[in-house]
Amino acid sequence: MTAVPNIPVPANEPVREYGPGSADRAALQQALAEVNAVTEEIPLVIGGRHVHTGTLAEVVAPHARARVLAKVHQGGAAEARAAADAAVAAQREWASWGFEARAAVFLRAADLLASRWRMRVNAATMAGQSKTAHQAEIDAACELVDFLRFNVHYAERLYAEQPGSAPFVWNRLDHRPLEGFVYAVTPFNFTAIAGNLPTAPAILGNVAVWKPSPMACLSNWHVFRLLEEAGLPPGVINFVPGDAVAITGALLDDPRLAGIHFTGSTAVFRHLWREVGSRIDRYRAYPRLVGETGGKDFVLVHESADPEAVAANLIRGAYEYQGQKCSAASRAYVPDTMWPALRDRLAGLVGELRVGDVGDFRNFMGAVINQASFDRLAAAQREAKADPSLTILAGGGADDREGFFVQPTLIESRDPSHRFLCDEFFGPILTVHPYPAARWEETLRLVDGTSPYALTGAIFARDRAALVQASAALRHAAGNLYLNDKPTGAIVGQQPFGGGRASGTNDKAGSILNLLRWASPRTIKEALVPAVDYRYPFLAE
Ligand code: NAD
Repeated sequence: MTAVPNIPVPANEPVREYGPGSADRAALQQALAEVNAVTEEIPLVIGGRHVHTGTLAEVVAPHARARVLAKVHQGGAAEARAAADAAVAAQREWASWGFEARAAVFLRAADLLASRWRMRVNAATMAGQSKTAHQAEIDAACELVDFLRFNVHYAERLYAEQPGSAPFVWNRLDHRPLEGFVYAVTPFNFTAIAGNLPTAPAILGNVAVWKPSPMACLSNWHVFRLLEEAGLPPGVINFVPGDAVAITGALLDDPRLAGIHFTGSTAVFRHLWREVGSRIDRYRAYPRLVGETGGKDFVLVHESADPEAVAANLIRGAYEYQGQKCSAASRAYVPDTMWPALRDRLAGLVGELRVGDVGDFRNFMGAVINQASFDRLAAAQREAKADPSLTILAGGGADDREGFFVQPTLIESRDPSHRFLCDEFFGPILTVHPYPAARWEETLRLVDGTSPYALTGAIFARDRAALVQASAALRHAAGNLYLNDKPTGAIVGQQPFGGGRASGTNDKAGSILNLLRWASPRTIKEALVPAVDYRYPFLAE
């Protein structure tokens, strides 16, 4: 094709409501029934070939733990090496395709997901990761569609970034993909992030080995098949579920490791960073390390705040998807003057939240992801009950007989440095510290210094001077700051997402800043009329 194509201008995918009696709701319930009725057998896919290792791990529905949704063939070091070989073998042709041909694959994937594949991927996310219809819709459908469409648009803008030239000289930037493969390691909690981590580099001509989370394999497998149907050539992205330690060891030993695109916990990312560092002499280039990790996200309430807005946003921010969002509100600071009324209101609202099977659309929350998470959260609840500096105001129960159900839990901490205000629990536990209203400035320093993380945060105030002052004092305390809004729910193209400090490298998923990390530009200077005399004028007699 001889053309400079215009990429369609992206717009955010509209969120469907699934209200009672709607056609969308009927279609989603039908898809959910189909997902629940079968046990899917999921292979590895290496260079387009399905690989059955015979070692199987189960994916169960977290809210109905006896229901086996999938059996997943487990890869190890040998499969990881084969996947790296397949990726590198695919790269030359993939990177040589015109941008419009690569872009079309991802734009087609976006449109398929927005239409024919929408209910299947949403249903798999509901069943396998215990998301409600709304939480699945904003993640697996809308956010992933947005990632695919917007990243293609950002790639176009990146390619348009070109240097200036001078008379007789033409300068260009060749935005090359990285040499080697990208290792995409994805978390359980967002199907959209799982889809984004291998595809964002691939849009620019990179190739990837994708290791999905064991708990998200069902939805992630559907996303992989969606990419295949969209026309992604074999080997460009290789799907390798399995033994995280063995797969990672084999890939980090490979001199062709060009980058890691990670989202998950801080501890695992630091481990990967150390492992790369200790092998630095063996790599052909310096691997790009991009990781978005944990959070202990704050809500800071000023005396001038609207208490109703604070209550509604704390409920949504802390308990939607069982608090299993990196951005979930998990510590809040409320002036003691406002606290007694707000405390009662919040406790009442928490008591109203329905928890149960996400197939029952009246439930606001499902189950937490697995037994380990349940055990960690139930232990935290027991610890809170035994600790005299903490008071449980609502919730505090947990029951894992049917599924991994943890009640939404509201805790008051009188101790501002309590570990409940520092550590990430990754579950439906919100800890509130009532601060003396007169000590606002001291509280700003407290919020800034309490936790090692700096992912998201929210400030509620009607007094503009308070917002200005707090935004400045908390400048490095959050990569995504919200004013009078909950700290969750970032939208691609509107709030580029990522945090600093222990929360990650802040390479802003779903923005041009992230794509920059997956290109290694080559500068080309061409002399249109080359010099033919080495002597400069000043040399003349
Ligand atoms: P996790 O760290 O347990 O797992 C993430 C991925 O790493 C999975 O694929 C897992 O199999 C893999 N992994 C685990 N151990 C490994 C090892 N030793 N070597 C290599 N890979 C390994 O995280 P999770 O439970 O899936 O997700 C929850 C965490 O992710 C929370 O801390 C949350 O805050 C964070 N998160 C952050 C963001 C963000 O954008 N900042 C978004 C979503 C989730």
